[in-house]
Amino acid sequence: MSLVVQKYGGTSVGSVERIQSVAQRVMKTATLGNSLVVVVSAMGKTTDSLVKLANAISTNPSRREMDMLLSTGEQVSIALLCMALQELGQPAISLTGAQVGIVTEAHHSRARILKIKTERIEQHLNEGKVVVVAGFQGISSTDALEITTLGRGGSDTSAVALAASLKASRCEIYTDVPGILTADPRIVPDAQLMDEITADEMLELASLGAKVLHPRAVEIARNYGVPLVVLSSWTDDPGTKVISPMPQPRPLEGLEIARPVDAVEFDTDQAKVALLRVPDCPGVAARLFGEIARQDLDIDLIIQSIHESNTNDIAFTVSNGILNRAEAVAQAIAPALRTQSADPEEAEVMVARGIAKVSIAGAGMIGRPGIAAQMFVTLASAGVNIQMISTSEVKVSCVIDIKDCDRAITALCQTFNINSSPLQLPKATESPLPTHPSPVRGVALDLNQARLAIRYVPDRPGRAARLFGHLAEQNISVDMIIQSQRCRVIDGVPTRDLAFTVSQADAEAARLALKQASPDLGCGEILLDTDIAKVSIVGAGMVRQPGVAARMFEALAQHQINIQMITTSEIKISCVVAQEQGVIALQAIHNAFGLAGSKKVQVSA
Ligand code: ADP
Ligand code: ASP
Ligand code: MG
Repeated sequence: MSLVVQKYGGTSVGSVERIQSVAQRVMKTATLGNSLVVVVSAMGKTTDSLVKLANAISTNPSRREMDMLLSTGEQVSIALLCMALQELGQPAISLTGAQVGIVTEAHHSRARILKIKTERIEQHLNEGKVVVVAGFQGISSTDALEITTLGRGGSDTSAVALAASLKASRCEIYTDVPGILTADPRIVPDAQLMDEITADEMLELASLGAKVLHPRAVEIARNYGVPLVVLSSWTDDPGTKVISPMPQPRPLEGLEIARPVDAVEFDTDQAKVALLRVPDCPGVAARLFGEIARQDLDIDLIIQSIHESNTNDIAFTVSNGILNRAEAVAQAIAPALRTQSADPEEAEVMVARGIAKVSIAGAGMIGRPGIAAQMFVTLASAGVNIQMISTSEVKVSCVIDIKDCDRAITALCQTFNINSSPLQLPKATESPLPTHPSPVRGVALDLNQARLAIRYVPDRPGRAARLFGHLAEQNISVDMIIQSQRCRVIDGVPTRDLAFTVSQADAEAARLALKQASPDLGCGEILLDTDIAKVSIVGAGMVRQPGVAARMFEALAQHQINIQMITTSEIKISCVVAQEQGVIALQAIHNAFGLAGSKKVQVSA
């Protein structure tokens, strides 16, 4: 007999009829001889309505009272589902997070799960009951036994954490679409269903706006090797499997907080090409990377940041062996990018040899603002200056001087408690990884981001550490950190601009935190732009495949979409564009990678 955890989302339990149909489905799995734990969300849009109610009374309701309020939604659906099961003659019992013992941190509205007590659930399962658990909620580990919630969309995380703790044979996430698609079908109607996706790819997609799975649910599945599948509540189709690598053994104690960093990685075969002061208009990145792709040159990191006076800097790294050819491409394109203006430094090509990339990687760093800051602090204390920063949800990479590489690795391994030897990344010349037919598996859009830029940050070790340390103290998660290539000397001090994105909800708090810190840090003006969208492509197949970035940039250029910022990790490329162009941008890149299909996906209201 196997133990299965099933989770049903809000739409799937949105009405009496739907609850009854979920009960039928649950009963069917139970009749096949499985033990069953069922996690449910609040009915339909209940959580949104509760948030609205709160906002009608207070513009700034306390997080504790919000948790008290929002956790009620799930309590309604567990009771109703149990009644529906009992009506069918299936013994069942409902339990809140507190009754189970889903023990979390005491942080209201975004608590992480520390441990799940399994005794009570196991006892009821042994009695032949289906156990129906309220998703999204827990109880704090403190004496006060506070009700906590895990953050919006967190029922997925409850389900996978239960599956990991109970060592279930699988976790099934039932929702209102047939599985994980190449894009959100509400925005891209011709998005196609995937049979399977790797946990690493899904982690990026979920963090970049694909809300079909809560990123923390994917993280737990990956860390504990939980077989995870996303499927439709309305059909019997097989859905999408999320494939995790063989997990290293991990304790269940400290479930969501143990070990944020799994590995320290480095690559000493790196060189940088930067094109400074290029026009801030559609098509520039497409032109540069289009030509690089035509020469079949493989690039690693790409970074583009914003600047005053309508120009951008674009920088990328390549392996040393192809540096000369990459530089030649940049030099050949530069004249065409120069306008007739008097600025002699327009479209200047800059090359740096003797650099290395050091990275920390691990799914446990998701939504934990302190980790990137800790990396910067570690490098600063070791006297290492950071030349480029590139971030994804599961990795932070810094480009540094090759002379500092050994020192940086030793310091990072010590800080993050990594005992295994650091991973030397494979050389670009080695055979490509086995890939899927398309290098890009899916695309995502995030319309809830804002961009902050800080001008003239002194270019000394430790500045990034202090800056992001201030934000981490306020629990603000930062994404897409970009440091400008251009250096401006102010009062004899070399400075660079820093830009990054945060969620819109945190934007004002981030601006204030930086404003307070800026006299102490000696930085210039702080600019906030909430009118942005982030579009991303994700796929493990883009590793060592020239031309993927070019295709994305060309698709945007064809639609006259200006790229304001670019960041990449090994398996994703993200661009910031104007908010009003977000949807078109998503559709354009989805098309460009041939992800569209003719099959119409059923989406339920
Ligand atoms: P539930 O209430 O079942 O948890 P959610 O609304 O949280 O459902 O997540 C399902 C929704 O996620 C879908 O209706 C779809 O609009 C959206 N979505 C975004 N990106 C994707 C994607 N890549 N594949 C499938 N669905 C997606
Ligand atoms: N009901 C919660 C929400 O709407 C949790 C969830 O649905 O996963 O965010
Ligand atoms: Mg959801």
